[in-house]
Amino acid sequence: MDFRFTPEQEAFREEFISWLEENLPDDWDPSRYRNYDSSEELARAHKDLQRRLFEAGYAGLHYPKEYDGQGRTLMEEVIVLQTITSTCAELRMPGVITFGMAAPVILICGSEEQKREFLPKTLDGTHIWCQGFSEPNAGSDVANVSTRAVKKNGHYIVNGQKTWTSFAHIADYCILLVRTDPDAKKHKGLSYLLMDMKLPGIEVRPITQITGEQEFNELYMEDVRVPAAMLLGKEGDGWRIAITTLMFERVIGDVTMAAVYQRNIERMIQMASQSKRSGKAVIEDPIFRQQLAQAYIEVMVLKYHGLRNLSQQLQGDIPGPEGSIGKLLWSEPNQRITEAALGMQGPGSQIMGGSPWSVQDGFWQFSFLRSKGSTIEAGTSEIQRNIIGERVLGLPKDISRAVRIQ
Ligand SMILES: Cc1cc2nc3c(=O)[nH]c(=O)nc-3n(C[C@H](O)[C@H](O)[C@H](O)COP(=O)(O)OP(=O)(O)OC[C@H]3O[C@@H](n4cnc5c(N)ncnc54)[C@H](O)[C@@H]3O)c2cc1C
Repeated sequence: MDFRFTPEQEAFREEFISWLEENLPDDWDPSRYRNYDSSEELARAHKDLQRRLFEAGYAGLHYPKEYDGQGRTLMEEVIVLQTITSTCAELRMPGVITFGMAAPVILICGSEEQKREFLPKTLDGTHIWCQGFSEPNAGSDVANVSTRAVKKNGHYIVNGQKTWTSFAHIADYCILLVRTDPDAKKHKGLSYLLMDMKLPGIEVRPITQITGEQEFNELYMEDVRVPAAMLLGKEGDGWRIAITTLMFERVIGDVTMAAVYQRNIERMIQMASQSKRSGKAVIEDPIFRQQLAQAYIEVMVLKYHGLRNLSQQLQGDIPGPEGSIGKLLWSEPNQRITEAALGMQGPGSQIMGGSPWSVQDGFWQFSFLRSKGSTIEAGTSEIQRNIIGERVLGLPKDISRAVRIQ
């Protein structure tokens, strides 16, 4: 297999790199890993860049032209995504659910009206989406969702609570999993709504994470009237559509995270070359060299796994359960890499960003703390291993789950 870009793709990549350099926000500082103090500021910068990408013809490259996409190839989309994530990943972040889940699932499962209404406004940066699946009693067991939606006079009246809803505080719309038939079997009674976050009865309460940031939220809904036309697919089809969404969620990481981690390894090498432990440059220490080599190998495995998935999608397949392999490959090494980087800093690893003594402005301290959530978000590592065992390798069902279901 030849992993190089074709001359046309290479020319497109170079053209896009020049465009991006000219169109980054004026106050963008590439040496900082966090340019915005509040999520609202970040959301504004994200929407502004997305609008400019759209106007320049770099948004929704592989989406059909009738929904304001560019009708080009997935490969060009990947080139744009990789360039953005390795140049300004922070600006892309509020769009992770929008472009990784909401847009593809609307394209595949939406009605013609829904595609025409939502895809253009998603591609041009008007809408940020959040994902309301998890609840206090429905995380790994997402089919246990108890948020109720009752159909009445052309609306679904929604009551319930979601939790860990990333970006809900800055989102315009939510892909929402609800229970429409409490008498049907657990997986069969679910439906999937597209909910306007400005509807009366919605309350968003931010949750502070271990990093100090407020990236996710509790989401309360009391008698929220969602128009019946906002049902995605058919009533009772929610489980199938939710699984399709999660498959997309699990492959987002592969193509984009490899680009981010490759950049982080360069940062790590720079740090190891400039720091000393016991009078010796860290980069000369055989243990740290071993950790650097291990980190590099893991990032390359992720990169090539991502390319394998990509070639599958280029042949027209939608992501399948093997996406769980990629999820493990981006989340678990991230924890090992950030831990190794802190080890290289020795006692200085206690110093957070903002201090004059912090190393690389506290990038590794923040990344270490944030990486803890990676093996939980988008499905825990244990759940990914169950999926790989049962649905990729065809092994017998996980006994604990089989017993619980009975
Ligand atoms: C940073 C972050 C962002 C998130 N963003 C969103 C979001 O935007 N929208 C959203 O809907 N959700 C979001 N989540 C929620 C996430 O999807 C859930 O936290 C996750 O699915 C786990 O569910 P839980 O927290 O209820 O844990 P539980 O399901 O209660 O699991 C607890 C522990 O039990 C283990 N376990 C559970 N079942 C099994 C089993 N069958 N076999 C083996 N082990 C098992 C789990 O692996 C875990 O270790 C986010 C989470 C994080 C950390």
